[in-house]
Amino acid sequence: MDKLKNEPARTRTELAAVWPPTAEVAREAGHEPMSPLKAIRAKCYDCSYFQYHEVRLCEAINCALWPFRAGKHPYHHLVGKAPTTGGSSKDDDEGVP
Ligand code: SF4
Repeated sequence: MDKLKNEPARTRTELAAVWPPTAEVAREAGHEPMSPLKAIRAKCYDCSYFQYHEVRLCEAINCALWPFRAGKHPYHHLVGKAPTTGGSSKDDDEGVP
């Protein structure tokens, strides 16, 4: 069976098996290049029924994205300084639920 025009060449399972995701696999899955902050903003927009004022009003303060939902990096001034609480310096996803 021929693939549809916009259908990825690989299945979702095959795309998801590429770890970590590469630019190529992201493009194949239909994603445009964007910064992590823009991705977070887009996720919050989706989560808030596509209404930006709802993103601003979000009270889910335990959500890991909450500090970033304005599309600004709230810890930017701390870059290069030692973390003051918790966190991990590892680049992998160990310990992330
Ligand atoms: S911060 Fe709020 S709007 Fe953004 S993903 Fe979390 S719950 Fe949704």
